[in-house]
Amino acid sequence: MKRFHLLAGLALAAICLFSCEKPPVVGGDTDQNWRLQASTTKLSGITYQLNVYSFADSDGDGWGDLKGITRHLDYLDSLGATALWLSPIHDAMSYHGYNVNDYNSVNPKLGTEADLKDLIDKAKAKNIGIYLDFVLNHSGKDNAWFKTAVSDPNSKYRDYYVFSDKPGESVTGGMGSWYSVSGGDLGYHGLLHFKLDVSTASQPKLTVTQTTEAAQSGNTDTSVKWFIYENNAIRMYKTGNNVYEITLNINNDWGVLVKDDASQWGDHKWGAKAGDQVVEFGKPKTLVKGDAANDITFGGSNLKYWASFDSSMPDLYYGPYATASQSAAFKDMVAAADKWIRMGVAGLRLDAVIWIYQNNTAANVAFLKQWYDHCNTIWKANGGSGDFYMVGEAWCDNAEKMAPYYEGLPSNFNFYYWYTLKDRIAKGKGNDFAQTVTYFQNLFRSYRSDFIDAIKLTNHDEDRAASDLGKSLEKEKLAAAVLLTSPGKPFIYQGEELGYWGTKAGGDEYVRTPIKWTRTGSVPSTALSGKVDNAMLSAEISVEAQEKDPASVLRVYRDFAKARSAWKALAKGTMEEVTSPNPAVALWKMSYEGQTVLVVHNFGGGVASANVNIDVNPNKLIVSNGAVSFSGSTITLGAYASAVYLL
Ligand code: MG
Repeated sequence: MKRFHLLAGLALAAICLFSCEKPPVVGGDTDQNWRLQASTTKLSGITYQLNVYSFADSDGDGWGDLKGITRHLDYLDSLGATALWLSPIHDAMSYHGYNVNDYNSVNPKLGTEADLKDLIDKAKAKNIGIYLDFVLNHSGKDNAWFKTAVSDPNSKYRDYYVFSDKPGESVTGGMGSWYSVSGGDLGYHGLLHFKLDVSTASQPKLTVTQTTEAAQSGNTDTSVKWFIYENNAIRMYKTGNNVYEITLNINNDWGVLVKDDASQWGDHKWGAKAGDQVVEFGKPKTLVKGDAANDITFGGSNLKYWASFDSSMPDLYYGPYATASQSAAFKDMVAAADKWIRMGVAGLRLDAVIWIYQNNTAANVAFLKQWYDHCNTIWKANGGSGDFYMVGEAWCDNAEKMAPYYEGLPSNFNFYYWYTLKDRIAKGKGNDFAQTVTYFQNLFRSYRSDFIDAIKLTNHDEDRAASDLGKSLEKEKLAAAVLLTSPGKPFIYQGEELGYWGTKAGGDEYVRTPIKWTRTGSVPSTALSGKVDNAMLSAEISVEAQEKDPASVLRVYRDFAKARSAWKALAKGTMEEVTSPNPAVALWKMSYEGQTVLVVHNFGGGVASANVNIDVNPNKLIVSNGAVSFSGSTITLGAYASAVYLL
């Protein structure tokens, strides 16, 4: 074995005289030849998730922006990023962008289309692709599609959303609520004709019609005792036996009442029965008096819309799932995606995909397959290499429920990876981690042979990993090392690499904290309404400080990212569990095209040894964190230490 390596090393050294740059590797060894097996091109396949509104602010307006990202591409490259997942960039109702007003636009607070194109081009030059966050489940309530759907019952946009005039009806399997399209505005703004028939004195009937007749002033004939009350009591005109009428220009947001005395209430107030308050134009409404009388309202109609999340996010509807791609909503939505793909966007992250058809997995999967196939076709027609990347947020109760989404999409977030990792770190138990990851992979493979496991610690919707780990720097470094030595496609979330902590208890903003670039600089917090944890954002947690600190969390991310970039077995390898004799120690191999590495992590807080029963040359240390040493085939790891060896 050793002789082979020596000869191979000499041969590679000879080649290197002509062409090799120094491979970007970490670790100590006097014999450098084995390192020539490292790649000099970036293989890592790491995606960095960032919040555009809080990552970096180029113009000092307190909002992170696209130009800010472009300025920090070197930083992202140093983390091994081959892709960036941007939070939604479209014009939207909220800072986070998940209630989109226009899928074809760039939010002016974040920049321009030219800024996006510039970012795409400059990132591409560093082998970094740009993924957009695409929100298919719902639009913003201020989206022109929704506004038109509400205002025009004959509009095609009525079919883009889930409307019902039967509030209270549930959508099977869904979470969410019905909301009134009128919001708080139950009144009317415009000309109305009122006709009151009091021939049955105990049950007067009010008929309201829309009109173009001119508004009238109140009647001055004090012998008439009937009034329409809007902001004042306005006396009606007697137009027949027991019939009173008037045309008024109504302008309020609550409705009207009828009175039979201008100055008194109580039993002089007449209104609608509870549950029957809304006027149907032209249809007489029987009135009741006193305490039973409610405001007579105009609430647009009883029309309600379904929203899985909150009232600012009406759910979109794509028709029967089997033929979703034929729906007008699908065609409009995909036209927007096409625009960005043609501009050079390299992937999409799809928000909340399990709610598109109210947690009906078969329906969602059928929809997503149509969506993916369309985008992939556009990608290829636009000269894209390989298949288009698309990752779904199919956030289900467990991996078994999520796995079928691989029939619709090539990649899905593996929330269960982090649940497992944090559980095992908490327990100090590493010896079944590889087995669990392998279980996930086999599960996903059973639905899609070329699945791309999107592994992660936490994201913008979860409490921070560092908070989950009790703000232990050693555990955060371990989590980073495990993530970047696992099979699949790792996602690093903005701030995770700096050891940011935060929980959602005080608001989601606290898990979306801006990057503190320099020791003394401010952070862009306007988008977050100033909701940043300044106690956390110390000088020492800044990028500037951590870049200079060999013991920083950032340094561990960079070291392991560099290793993953250089060693194809780490970046693309297949995981093979190695039985660990020590419960605290996680052991696995990663292999790809003849290259194999051994990955070792100590999940425990004490020194741990394990006989790896594998012929390891301890000099072939690719990367490590913490104290690591070999004696024969027994490795000894300090608390939460990690190492990767070339086999
Ligand atoms: Mg800005």
